[in-house]
Amino acid sequence: MAQSRPHNVLLFVADGLRAGMVNDKNTPNMAALIARGVRFTNTHSLFPTFTTANASGMATGHMLGDTGDFSNTIYTGFQVPGAGDSLTPFLENDPVLGDVDEHFSGDYLNEETILHAARDAGFSTATIGKLGPALIFDHTERTGQHTIVLDDSTGRKGGIPLSDELKAALGAAHLPDQAPTRGDNGKSGNATTPGTSVANVEQQNYFADVATKAVLPLFKARQKPFALVFWSRDPDGSQHNQGDSLGRLIPGINGPTSLAGIKNADDDLGRLLAALHDQGLEDDTDIVITADHGFSTISKESTTSFAATQTYADVAPNLLPPGFVALDLAHALGMALLDPDAKAAPVAAGAHSKFGNGLIGGDADHPLVVVAANGGSDLVYLPTGDKALAARVVAALAAQDYVSGLFVDDALGSFPGTLPLSAVALKGSAVTPMPAIAVNFRSFTTGCADATTCGVEVADTGLQQGQGMHGSFSRADTRNMMGAVGPDFRTHFVDSAPASNADVGKTIAGLLGLQIPDKGKLVGRVLTEAMPNGTMPAAESSVVRSEPDAAGRVTVVLTQTVGETRYFDAAGYPGRTLGLPSD
Ligand SMILES: [Zn+2]
Repeated sequence: MAQSRPHNVLLFVADGLRAGMVNDKNTPNMAALIARGVRFTNTHSLFPTFTTANASGMATGHMLGDTGDFSNTIYTGFQVPGAGDSLTPFLENDPVLGDVDEHFSGDYLNEETILHAARDAGFSTATIGKLGPALIFDHTERTGQHTIVLDDSTGRKGGIPLSDELKAALGAAHLPDQAPTRGDNGKSGNATTPGTSVANVEQQNYFADVATKAVLPLFKARQKPFALVFWSRDPDGSQHNQGDSLGRLIPGINGPTSLAGIKNADDDLGRLLAALHDQGLEDDTDIVITADHGFSTISKESTTSFAATQTYADVAPNLLPPGFVALDLAHALGMALLDPDAKAAPVAAGAHSKFGNGLIGGDADHPLVVVAANGGSDLVYLPTGDKALAARVVAALAAQDYVSGLFVDDALGSFPGTLPLSAVALKGSAVTPMPAIAVNFRSFTTGCADATTCGVEVADTGLQQGQGMHGSFSRADTRNMMGAVGPDFRTHFVDSAPASNADVGKTIAGLLGLQIPDKGKLVGRVLTEAMPNGTMPAAESSVVRSEPDAAGRVTVVLTQTVGETRYFDAAGYPGRTLGLPSD
């Protein structure tokens, strides 16, 4: 990386692509790329294994304890205008990201992003694709003048504007300046109607058209190096919403719609690679491919949950409703439940909150417990910092058969059966409110050659049993696809050293020659072993165990370290997490 002019970088993210699904048949372009360049085999999504969280890791090179993007839905401690004044906004939204930036001193991540640093250093920069993660790569630049941002909201309410220069390039390429919607791919169905049977092809064709026919030619004409992020919503969106398996764990996320979503992502990568080749940019461009997280099929079964014993208009009998953690905690604590996403209206008997989030006890402005529902894991906040209440919440959660491991804020003290948030790199320099407890849900496998391709997890979601989710500490969710190719990478190299999405951020900063000062200490590493003349680092494995609680439950996390950088393979209660030995 000593060359006077750094190479270009393309970061391609296939949202929710399981590493074990990458092969010549499903993903010929990715399979060929990692065969030609670097195949990472010891990969890690950051827990909670959600999209905005991992986007924050890639964008900054820091783990979530520093970025404070703890999950897709977090408790912000203020009413977020772009989320209908909710205290628990969903971050995959451009106005919401603007609101949280404004509230947290202009930068909710509190760490400079790689695209921000790259444009300051004179690179051309663009981030294209899925709403939310795309903007996170340069979220403080909302004018559209310096970094090109194209996502679902482009040309629509709340979208980041386009520069005149880009509009002209779109016009020259006969492309509209409004992104298509997801159409039928956005249909998730319900308890009686299956979800979508089509991948997100039309919308992503537009993003691929923009990248290949407008942005790359524009960048080439500028004769400056560039950094381009392309975030493919597929296969995530298709695996979530697929209607292939309503109510059934098999085929789950391995049916035809999910496979079409995987192919769609691979097709988009193929188009980008072809454009780099055709426009003469291939030899000067490093390409990093990753997924923000893996994926699992949803289970809604529990024999201990109060919420599952109630009847709801939109939930199949005896299954967990959306918001079961909020309902079960309110029940166990004997406190009222309010819905932060419905102007704090009380949640009536036989109902659940709109998005599963909950404000428990106190009043709407001073809740005692807040639940941010996310999917394969939830976040629980205790705004008053009450340690006795924390003990009651921990006990109530630990008694549920859907829980597999609890991680508690170090500041609340030590609780048997749980590990501290610091044990999984969730305690750092974050400026957003600290969760009190990260609640991991149970996971298992339906049985297949590579268990991480047929994982199942209990998930707190409006989606149905048999659809798809992620967010847990299952190895099926933490094991993401990763690869790289280009002038700064080795060829035909299998990299078995631990790697994570925080490393992706630090590695791209290294490729671009950026010197970004770190505020927090939870940093990834540059994956130098994957570069010419690099040497394999020493990695150590360890098993971190909590003290047992009164019922003998122990939270365990499988950890690897390279120097100061930590990686987490899987965690939870032994026997209740895929990838964790049952003893
Ligand atoms: Zn997702």
